[in-house]
Amino acid sequence: MNLHIHNTLTNKKDLFVPCSSAKSINMYVCGPTVYSEPHIGNARAALTGDLFYRVLKELFENVVYIRNLTDVDDKIIDQSSKTGIPISKLTEDVACIYQKNMLELNMLKPTHEPKVTDNINNIISTIEKILINKSAYISEKHVVFDTVAFENYGTLSKKIANDLIDGARIKPEAFKRNQKDFVLWKPSQNDKHGWDSPWGFGRPGWHIECTSMIKSIIGNNNTLDIHGGGNDLIFPHHENEIAQGSCCSSSKYCNYWFHNGIVLVNKKKMSKSLGNVILVSDIINRYDPSIIRLALMSTHYRQPLNWTDDTINNAKNIYEKISRTLNNTSQLDVTRDDNFLELLCDDINTPNAIQYLIKQAKLARDDIKVMSKLKYNCQLIGIVSNRNSIEINPNEKQIIENLIEKREMARKNKDFVQADSIRDQLTTLSVVLEDGPSGVTWKIKR
Ligand SMILES: [Zn+2]
Repeated sequence: MNLHIHNTLTNKKDLFVPCSSAKSINMYVCGPTVYSEPHIGNARAALTGDLFYRVLKELFENVVYIRNLTDVDDKIIDQSSKTGIPISKLTEDVACIYQKNMLELNMLKPTHEPKVTDNINNIISTIEKILINKSAYISEKHVVFDTVAFENYGTLSKKIANDLIDGARIKPEAFKRNQKDFVLWKPSQNDKHGWDSPWGFGRPGWHIECTSMIKSIIGNNNTLDIHGGGNDLIFPHHENEIAQGSCCSSSKYCNYWFHNGIVLVNKKKMSKSLGNVILVSDIINRYDPSIIRLALMSTHYRQPLNWTDDTINNAKNIYEKISRTLNNTSQLDVTRDDNFLELLCDDINTPNAIQYLIKQAKLARDDIKVMSKLKYNCQLIGIVSNRNSIEINPNEKQIIENLIEKREMARKNKDFVQADSIRDQLTTLSVVLEDGPSGVTWKIKR
């Protein structure tokens, strides 16, 4: 079976062909900047990556899925000074909530979840490679990418010349030769958010973080198969990633780019000032994760998704029909259904896939063979709820044990506020802790 991906590079649906040199398929999706709690827009981006990952795993033996956490960024510094929460605590807490939320939404755990703060040395060495190739220059303690040095700049976003100036309407920056040039490394005034480097104490720019984390995992001279993210990242973030990745390596940066559309709430952009931000933590308290997944899948990932009461109510109705049909089938073996997989292989066409499931759920009531396919299909797109099962998957176990370890550490350091907040997080995961003489034991109470 062939997978087709709408490739932003070519602006058409392309047949996916893996890099011949690579033994496995590599896919990277830009994860969140961890400064505030994840909302349904973050969930949609993660779900798009999750669905590609699930389909790729059906088609190929080895799939490496990388989803990063951006824990170095100006937005983080701003939020920390606004709230008084130290940067490291802010980023750790938000990263933890993000990972917990994504697992609750039944997203498969990525193969790698690199953090920027664990990759500073890699980032410095990537910047050094770009400097050696004369594609960047040093100016006023900044390392700046020289966009003139990369003739293909603009091919992803299809922008030309003057359109390419990011933030051109903001004040021009004197340290840049060209206003479309962008920063790879910048000086830090805040002594808590910087690292020593050959160019002085400072921190990386946002774009270089992703390029460097990708290269450190797949190898500097390998091509990434697939790169995804929200379509607000096409320019400048992904355009700049291509420029950096092409100038630190001898190979093409990435073959296929997919981009998901925005989530609107009642046709309006989510914003704190409008008070219409829907947090994953809130919605997950109200609806089964499968319902939320179906709601997010109701529109094709490339289109804007308008979230209304109807979106979630329709998803709820569909889920109830399917789960009623699948009731008491825990012993039933599953059968792969190529017709369903084919719909997903058409650039992850979830609206068609959902219509297919609705019809299949009707037929399945009288036909056990159809039932076993329905069960398979629901598992494939992650809409079988694990909530009533007492089995816990290894990912969940790992997260729980990490949280318990962190809580123990906080208790040792007498940080009881932190310890209590971790206990609360564990409670929402239905984990019951028992502090005994030989340490902490835990169990799941469903
Ligand atoms: Zn990125």
